[in-house]
Amino acid sequence: CGIVGYIGHREAYPVVVKGLQRLEYRGYDSAGVALYDGTEIQLSKTKGKVADLDTKAKAEITLQGTLGIGHTRWATHGEPNDVNSHPHYSNSGNLVIIHNGIIENYEPLRRELTKRGYTFTSDTDTEVLVNLIEDVKKNHDLKLGKAVQIALNQVHGAYAIVVFDKTKPNEIVVAKLGSPLAIGVGEDEFFVASDASPFIEYTNNAIYLEDEEMAILRRGKEIKIRKIKDDSLVDPYVQELQL
Ligand code: GLU
Repeated sequence: CGIVGYIGHREAYPVVVKGLQRLEYRGYDSAGVALYDGTEIQLSKTKGKVADLDTKAKAEITLQGTLGIGHTRWATHGEPNDVNSHPHYSNSGNLVIIHNGIIENYEPLRRELTKRGYTFTSDTDTEVLVNLIEDVKKNHDLKLGKAVQIALNQVHGAYAIVVFDKTKPNEIVVAKLGSPLAIGVGEDEFFVASDASPFIEYTNNAIYLEDEEMAILRRGKEIKIRKIKDDSLVDPYVQELQL
């Protein structure tokens, strides 16, 4: 029910976990984080509170990454437990996703992916989505952003997602339909969250994605926003938040 992401030059873990705490008011049953240092991805997740996650993650996560994502889950598909908590990996282990919302046609998609050899460790609609993205990416030899776009054009439902790819350490991809997604634009760094409260202490420049928009956030580069349906580029509208 809450998402946070960071890509930049800071240690991502404290940014992400503090951010999740700011989003606790939205309600949730589980929480999780993934950190990437450019070489290795480490993930920690648990049923329970962000404070429980923090305790678990401090024991499990040994790397220091400047790319990180975090999630608080309000279960819609699959009971609240550690395995169903986000983030979720794709089968190859290269893609990692967090998702708020519901993929309504996840059952036929899951059946189709199963036929194609994909396996699922959780009961979530989200794990179906990340493997759909992976399948599209592999079959058409695409970059992550394009694969996300094509996959999202095959799903019905609501989402705010953050995805990254182990083979692309300097980039995260975000998209939204129905669930909120704000992007904080700092100096050579980007923040993502369900609302601006997780990043207001770092930057007051915010972009609120519209429904059916996606953005590619590259470390040290300009943000690129596109419409998911027709691929047209959108001029970023940066709002100055009042502190
Ligand atoms: N549908 C997803 C799940 O059940 C995401 C729920 C949420 O918005 O937290 O895992």
